[in-house]
Amino acid sequence: MTVSSAAFIPEKIAKLKEYVPVEADVPVKLDSNENPYPMPEPLRARLCEIAGTLEYNRYPDPYARELVGKFAKVYGVKPERVVAGCGSDEVLHLLCQALIYDGAAVATAPPDFSMYAFYAYLEGGRVITSSRGADGRIDFCELARLAKSDGCRCVMFSNPCNPTGAVATRDEMLDFVRNAGCPVVVDEAYGEFSGREYSVLDMAGELPNLIVLKTLSKAFGLAGLRVGFAVAHEDIVRAVKKVKSPYNLNAFSQAAGAAALEYAGEIFALAEKIGKAAKELYKKLHALSLQGGYEAVEPGANFVLLKFFDAADAERVHAELLRRGISVRLLGGALRITCGTDAENEKFYAEFERTIKGGITNERGKAGEGDARD
Ligand code: PMP
Repeated sequence: MTVSSAAFIPEKIAKLKEYVPVEADVPVKLDSNENPYPMPEPLRARLCEIAGTLEYNRYPDPYARELVGKFAKVYGVKPERVVAGCGSDEVLHLLCQALIYDGAAVATAPPDFSMYAFYAYLEGGRVITSSRGADGRIDFCELARLAKSDGCRCVMFSNPCNPTGAVATRDEMLDFVRNAGCPVVVDEAYGEFSGREYSVLDMAGELPNLIVLKTLSKAFGLAGLRVGFAVAHEDIVRAVKKVKSPYNLNAFSQAAGAAALEYAGEIFALAEKIGKAAKELYKKLHALSLQGGYEAVEPGANFVLLKFFDAADAERVHAELLRRGISVRLLGGALRITCGTDAENEKFYAEFERTIKGGITNERGKAGEGDARD
């Protein structure tokens, strides 16, 4: 009897789609919300030194204590309220494993980071969604209704939001968390670009249901190292430690991440500069949008979302930019432009303007924007 291997895969997994990364080999890469600048030279030298001295025959520290201690010091939180993982992606998955069970509802506010719905689905969760305004901002009244609805076990959103770039205020978020009645994950992956006044990190764990996610992939420019954190009440941190694999974060990432955190001052200043450059890019794109065809969303992060009136235009502009050596992210009927170096932004703007002037639809259609997976 011959059995197909595919028959062994449960339907729940079989119907998933594999992640397709953007692999454009072009000079200007503005598609993955990465930091465009190289790390400080002394940090690079330090990482080379670390690589040469680690004992690779030994398992790493299961609790990444040095890394967690440095992170806690830089961000002013208690180390016992921090758990580290292989990117905030893994930390998010661990949180879902710790908090969600079959049939539990998980509330999200799309368009947002698509991994919330993805990991919730993997853990048997039922995703329920709340809407956002035209400016990309969360409707916290609607989200509160969902949070308090039957069986809701968790709410997740990013702030600043990927892909819209919209930011919620600290007061809005804290009011919401205080009333939600279930765990709320506020993903501050891009927080360093918007400034601390939009952060609720200091309240993670102070409010028993507030969990804040952080990463070294964005402002720190260390996406390749895969280092992320959750900050939450000790009870939640303990639950995450129970479900994680013992050695989830490798020895080099732990040591390199800890070394990078020593450069926080320099890195935060650079993040602020990138945040300002994103706003400048937005202003130019907004001015150009007055001629019609698309709308630019004011960013609180290191990228700008352009919502096209006609999805076909977004596709055409995306393809044309690629042909001209610039890769941006196509998300449904929208384009997300990561802020690059000044030279990259200028090159993007010049080519974008030229492409737009080739003619795009001026009537407002129904081209929605999709969730972002990175
Ligand atoms: N949260 C948000 C909002 C993101 O955009 C991303 C990745 N782009 C992540 C989390 C995951 O980041 P990482 O796993 O690299 O820490």
